[in-house]
Amino acid sequence: MTAVSTFIFDLDGTVIDDSLYARIYVPVLEALKAKLDLTDIRLNAAIVEVKRKTGRTGRVDTYDLCEHLGCLGLYYTLLEAAAKGDSRLNDGVLELFRRIGEMGKRIGIASNSHRHTIELYLKVHRLASFVGFVFSADDAPSDKRSLAYWQALIQKEGLVPSDCMVIGDDYENDVAVPKTLGMKTFLVEGAVTPDILSRI
Ligand SMILES: [Mg+2]
Repeated sequence: MTAVSTFIFDLDGTVIDDSLYARIYVPVLEALKAKLDLTDIRLNAAIVEVKRKTGRTGRVDTYDLCEHLGCLGLYYTLLEAAAKGDSRLNDGVLELFRRIGEMGKRIGIASNSHRHTIELYLKVHRLASFVGFVFSADDAPSDKRSLAYWQALIQKEGLVPSDCMVIGDDYENDVAVPKTLGMKTFLVEGAVTPDILSRI
């Protein structure tokens, strides 16, 4: 076992199955139209404006759209209902978190999601008691692909980079940059299994 004292997990695609966002896309748009009495033309104009502001391509992020339209309450009502009924932990996560806890090591979550979203998932899946810290888009000046994100995390949590292991499913977000800062990294393929502990 290496001298890792802190395990830092990505959330989407690593701890939780992130296909939920695709499944709530249409329900969120329908709910916005109903709540705000929007025509398709006006909803589309809002989507175009949000994508222009955020610089994102592809489907609009429904969080960003709801925030733009002043409807974050609606977003979280729908997300929480969907998460309770339909979200699943990736295989092996609970056992891995238990094992890390038994070893007396610290677990953190580092995500590009917002704090409220991360905490919602930790609550729904009863993971909060395992997790020592959450670092979210609300804590960082930029996303995980930038040095500034990881530098802010290291500073906020008082981390020693060489004592940290970042575990995630995306090379750009979870491996490339933290590695340059001296953190250990583990790129997940498929299930997050406890045998990760013997492979690091
Ligand atoms: Mg991910």
